[in-house]
Amino acid sequence: MTSNTRVVVIGAGLAGVRLARRLGELGTPALLVGDEEHAPYNRVLLAEVLAGRYAPEVITLPPPTGLLRTRVTGIDRAARTVSCADGMSIAYDTLVLATGSNPVLPPLRGLFTPDRRLPEGVHAFRTLDDCLGLAKAVRPGTRAVVIGGGLLGVSAARALAVRGAQVVLAQQAERLMERQLDPDASRLVLRHLTDLGVEVHTECRVRDVRCVAGAVRSVELADGYALDADLVVLACGVRPRTGLAEQAGLTVRKGVLVDDELRTSDPHIHAIGDCAQHDGTVYGLAAPALEQAESLAELLAGDTSARYRGTRSLTRLTLTGPGSPFDLAAFGETEARPGDDVVRLTDATRGTYRKVVVRDDRLVGGVLVGELGTVGALARAWEGAEPLPDDGPLLHLLTNDGGS
Ligand SMILES: Cc1cc2nc3c(=O)[nH]c(=O)nc-3n(C[C@H](O)[C@H](O)[C@H](O)COP(=O)(O)OP(=O)(O)OC[C@H]3O[C@@H](n4cnc5c(N)ncnc54)[C@H](O)[C@@H]3O)c2cc1C
Repeated sequence: MTSNTRVVVIGAGLAGVRLARRLGELGTPALLVGDEEHAPYNRVLLAEVLAGRYAPEVITLPPPTGLLRTRVTGIDRAARTVSCADGMSIAYDTLVLATGSNPVLPPLRGLFTPDRRLPEGVHAFRTLDDCLGLAKAVRPGTRAVVIGGGLLGVSAARALAVRGAQVVLAQQAERLMERQLDPDASRLVLRHLTDLGVEVHTECRVRDVRCVAGAVRSVELADGYALDADLVVLACGVRPRTGLAEQAGLTVRKGVLVDDELRTSDPHIHAIGDCAQHDGTVYGLAAPALEQAESLAELLAGDTSARYRGTRSLTRLTLTGPGSPFDLAAFGETEARPGDDVVRLTDATRGTYRKVVVRDDRLVGGVLVGELGTVGALARAWEGAEPLPDDGPLLHLLTNDGGS
């Protein structure tokens, strides 16, 4: 069976759903094809579902019209059709790839069963199904090992600890969330996790996953030490999901290459969100995915002047637990180069920490932990990249919320 639709969007995640909704509002309906079983949802909130704070329905996105549930298995660029796992073929004039990312599965011995599946008890942390699988498996006292100490690993460890699991987090780098945070802020995140009972090992490389009868029993570290485990969470980063684009012969580097019109090397095919690489950057974050969707909707609805020029994106994370919530935000360069000006405010008792880095009168980065009152003003100063006013000390940046 073949159906005819002008704009076809592959992937019903944050970017695909936003694009389809905006196109609908602008009078250019699209067909959205998604391979997940559930109604589209906000992936950013999965840790809250795992922690038991939200029911899965709460994170459902406003439903798009024209959603088809199947997996696209191939693109025929000459015929301008896509083929689907259920045998359907769909014709397009414009195709949009919004296929997101896949979790990185680390090269560990024993990670796969002979039939190439993850052993029982070993889970990635990317989809609602991963999250529901983990939520079902975790009980008070469950021994859980989280592999990876970036944003995903920290969120997963906190959520499992809130559920009463005994959590060990194994981080290969020397500190937590090293990509976003400076060492002082990392230490505060470490303290937050240890206060929740999480045991954190840094500079710790996992070598092996040991299983009995297809179920995980322990995780072995490079130094030979074994951690007993009923549950293992793989939080080792993500990789853009580019298989379809590669098979179709589109230009792919880290992600599917796109220009300022979010167009791939084929002018009839665009890419947005985690799978796309724009101006050298694969963002892997929600805000750029949504901005790209908005820009592309305007373009496809006929605004030929619309362009995507990149996103200066802030990383925000709220770790809610039994105590007060632990908020953090980081943007740009959080570590100073020689010659930069740095302003830092620390309150060890309250566990707050604020720091900005200024270079040549411009704000180039900052990190805020526990006290986010100034985040709006700082983000605006950073996004605008305007020279900072010289009518006051830099400290104002951290103490004056600019009415935000
Ligand atoms: C647990 C977790 C926490 C996160 N927290 C944050 C955060 O705090 N802040 C932040 O900015 N970002 C966060 N992120 C990242 C953020 O979720 C992503 O950047 C965002 O979802 C990207 O949107 P997307 O639409 O490109 O991809 P996705 O949301 O991954 O959607 C892609 C969709 O395409 C589908 N798909 C792929 N291939 C096909 C195919 N061939 N056929 C049909 N469908 C297909 C996939 O199944 C998926 O449903 C988090 C991610 C996770 C997993």
